[in-house]
Order: sequence, then C-alpha cells, then structure tokens
Amino acid sequence: MSLSEFDLIDRYFRSCGAKRSDVRVGVGDDAAILECPAGTQLAAAVDSLVDGVHFPHGSPAASVGHRALAVNLSDMAAMGARPAWALLALTLPGADESWLAEFAAGMSALARAHDVALVGGDTTSGPLCVSVQVLGHVPRSSALLRSGGRVGDAVFVSGFPGDAGAGLAIEQGRLPAAGEDAAYLRERFLYPAPRVALGECLRRHASACIDVSDGLLADAGKLARASGCGVEIGYEEVPVSEALERVVGAQRARELALTGGDDYELCFTVRPAQVGRLLAELPPQRWGYTRIGTLREVPGAEVLRDGAVMSVSSSGYDHFSHA
Ligand code: ADP
Ligand code: MG
Repeated sequence: MSLSEFDLIDRYFRSCGAKRSDVRVGVGDDAAILECPAGTQLAAAVDSLVDGVHFPHGSPAASVGHRALAVNLSDMAAMGARPAWALLALTLPGADESWLAEFAAGMSALARAHDVALVGGDTTSGPLCVSVQVLGHVPRSSALLRSGGRVGDAVFVSGFPGDAGAGLAIEQGRLPAAGEDAAYLRERFLYPAPRVALGECLRRHASACIDVSDGLLADAGKLARASGCGVEIGYEEVPVSEALERVVGAQRARELALTGGDDYELCFTVRPAQVGRLLAELPPQRWGYTRIGTLREVPGAEVLRDGAVMSVSSSGYDHFSHA
C-alpha cells in the first residue's frame, strides 16, 4: 500500500459519521470508551460483507460503505434499539484512494443521518471484506424480541419487499430493465433505508419483530418459530411497489416480495387488541407498513390465496395444493 495504515485511518475514518458527546475515547487509542445512558441496555450486532458474495464485484464503493452499516442498523431497528456507535473491520486488496474516499463518504452519510459515530476498527490487507459492528441502546427490558409473538397476533411488514431482490438481479444482469423503474429498484438494493425510527416506535406496540434480510416468508417463519407459532400470509395482502409490478408482472412481483432478500424492512407482530392503537398512533400511510397475515398454532410459514395454500420456493410457486 502506498498510503500508510495510519494515514489511511486518519484521512478516511477518524471523522467518519456523527460526532457524539458520549464518545469519551474514539479512533486513535487501543479501544473506544463509550458512555451508555442510565437505565438502558447495550444492543450489539455485527455483520460482514464479502466481495462477490454479499455484493456484486465492482459495486459502487459508496454503496458498499452504505450497505455495510445499513444491515447492522437494520438489526438495531429490529430490536427497537437506538444505534449510537460503530466499529469497522476493513480488509482491503490495496489502498485505492478514490475507492476509499467513496466508501467512507457512503458510510459517513448514513451514519450521520442516524447520529452514529465511528469509534474504532481494524484495517488489514487481503481480499475485500467489510465487517461492521454497531452498538446501540434500548431502555431496560423493552427490547423487541423475535420470541414475543402469540397465536392470533397480526403480522405486518414495512415498505415494499422484493424491490431489493429485483434491484440485485438488475445489477447482475439477470433481469433486463431500464429507465426510471430500473433506477428505483437498483437504488433499493444499493442504498437500503434501515427502519430505525419505526423500530423505536414499535417498542410501544409490537409483541415481536425481525428484520427482513433473507426473504419475507423465511424471516416471518423465523419470527413465528421463535414465538412457538406458525404464520399465515395472505397472498393478496403482500405489498408490492408499482415499479416492481411494471418490471416483472404482478405474479412474479409477489413471488419476489416473499422470497427476494436484502430488503432490510421490518416484519412485526401486534396483539389483536392493540392493532387499533397501532393504526391510530402510527398511521400506516405515513409509516409505510401493511398487514400481511396472522400467527397461528400450526407450525410453519404458509401463503394463502382464496383459501388455498400456495407452495412457494425461492425459484417461485411450484404448485398449488388445496387446504
Ligand atoms: P491496534 O494495533 O491497537 O489495534 P490499530 O493500528 O489497528 O491499533 O488502530 C489504531 C486506531 O485506529 C484504533 O483506535 C482503531 O480502533 C482505529 N482503526 C483502525 N482501523 C480502523 C478503521 N478501518 N475504521 C475506524 N477506525 C479504525
Ligand atoms: Mg488493530
């Protein structure tokens, strides 16, 4: 590397993200020293993005920086936690300064938008891999868990799942699309918007929550299993964006919404008696979420259409079987 490790850290990462008064010691010492607000618990999450595995090789550097932080902010959102600090373990094939500048700018913009400070990390050389840890806090005993759901709870999802999956397919040249719709879908993959504000508000309403990263049906299933239930999703209820429907058609759009992945939306459950208060206090049109189903006693995750169970796999609807 032409740039020394010290210069690299100093130039790109010392003032990345927000400045926070609760950072007693940040980048530059052997470890960060952080002040947690009284009455809160620490929430911690880490996720790694490997070049060519978690993002296409040659992705815009700003997107790689954005997504590496976004996936962790989404985990904070799913817990109802407020993110505060991040650490970055970066493995670089070389010190490409224009790549680094773009990468740091992408991460910094999202960090500032969520008032998150970069307080430390590690820099090594090797095949490109970006690992980010986010620390946040949540009022004592009020974190949203996957396991809090009960039979009969209403199931919701935020945003338009499936957009990011289509955006990735466009990025990879697997899905031909052009114009405004393609630009919108690619943006949804390259720059996902973690639902941090919604997650914090849901502490007052939700019984359980998970973020949707592996596909809505799979992740709703994980929440249901952790809650000791199964889940039924109404095919017609699954929200799809107009752009996605225009690009792939109505049927394939719902299939992608159920199985796509990389959405970083929230899937959450609410007790039936609390649904009215949820809808009144967090108007769905404003907060952008939709009711899609119900937790049930029978284990498993199923999609229902006109009373029939649809068999869904990542490759699409295999067949129809009558319930
Ligand atoms: P050490 O040998 O003690 O781990 P380093 O030279 O790895 O020290 O790091 C020096 C300082 O720079 C530490 O405060 C570390 O947290 C920070 N740091 C290293 N790499 C990064 C990075 N990619 N992003 C942010 N901070 C970093
Ligand atoms: Mg180190």
